[in-house]
Amino acid sequence: MKLRYWSYNLRFHHPFTISKGTKTHQPTLIVELEHMGVKGYGEAPAIAYYNIPVEKMIEDLEAKKSFVEKYAFTEPERYWHYLHHLFPQNNFLVCALDIAAWDLFGKLKRKPLYELWKLDISKNPLTDYTIGIDTIDKMVEKMKEKPWPIYKVKVGTAYDIEMISELRKHTDVPLRVDANAGWKLEEAIEKIPQLKELGVELVEQPLAKDDWEGMKVLYEKSPLPLLADESCVYEQDVEKCYQHFHGINIKLTKCSGITPAKRMIEQARKKGMKVMIGCMNESTVGSAAIAHLAPLLDYVDMDGPLLLAEDVAKGIGYDNGKILYSGKPGLGIDFVGK
Ligand code: MG
Repeated sequence: MKLRYWSYNLRFHHPFTISKGTKTHQPTLIVELEHMGVKGYGEAPAIAYYNIPVEKMIEDLEAKKSFVEKYAFTEPERYWHYLHHLFPQNNFLVCALDIAAWDLFGKLKRKPLYELWKLDISKNPLTDYTIGIDTIDKMVEKMKEKPWPIYKVKVGTAYDIEMISELRKHTDVPLRVDANAGWKLEEAIEKIPQLKELGVELVEQPLAKDDWEGMKVLYEKSPLPLLADESCVYEQDVEKCYQHFHGINIKLTKCSGITPAKRMIEQARKKGMKVMIGCMNESTVGSAAIAHLAPLLDYVDMDGPLLLAEDVAKGIGYDNGKILYSGKPGLGIDFVGK
């Protein structure tokens, strides 16, 4: 195989704020794997919270480039095991290469991934659109600017209830909230019933990622489903989240790609847990990987290309929350970022 890669710093339409901070650009790494004249693409955005900058991904990739290239590729699951051992400390990089391997595999088989996996995209859940933290007026403005059938609202402020009450005055659609580990237990116990009254559908990561004791209490009391995000990073975390959360939000970048994400979905299903796949503000390359898994999910949070003002690929579209596919093989995208 032949490996190439590019790094980008993609600009957001609006500065993006969550309970952990604000950013104006999303750094990301795009990889290309070429095999038998066919090219597959993958992506891993860098997230400061997880401490793997693009520079670190490139450094690790350069150090083991010959190993990545000399692998005799047959199918993505085996390749993932190889990559997992090659880069044990860099899930983000493994994710980018795993997505590229699946894109390549789909193209070699001449089928879109959802077709290869025998999934029915006609019953897909709609994807939400995220409103980052801002002044309440600006949040209302951002919501009005983007009429959408489901919003995910970032919370974790002193004015969460006031914020959701105001947004609710301007829309009837489902609202999801994501506290990004920004609440304390007492605060969550107080806020969640009020959010339910305001028509909130679910709460993502209310407490600190390792507050398992707090989560056990909240899980018993919460009138709304609680989804783990920061508490559910790796495959082994699904088991830990059982009976502490009602569901999990899988991020391909955190768990290291499509291959482990599929196993996590299966594991969560066996335990009767809800499943979301969320984005980390990927461009159309990484978002396409989520799109192909959408039929397996309860909730889809795939709004990276909508929040970003710049993109590096084409082939995935949105029609009022509905995901549109190109029908082309693999991820079904064309990389235009070179
Ligand atoms: Mg989240």
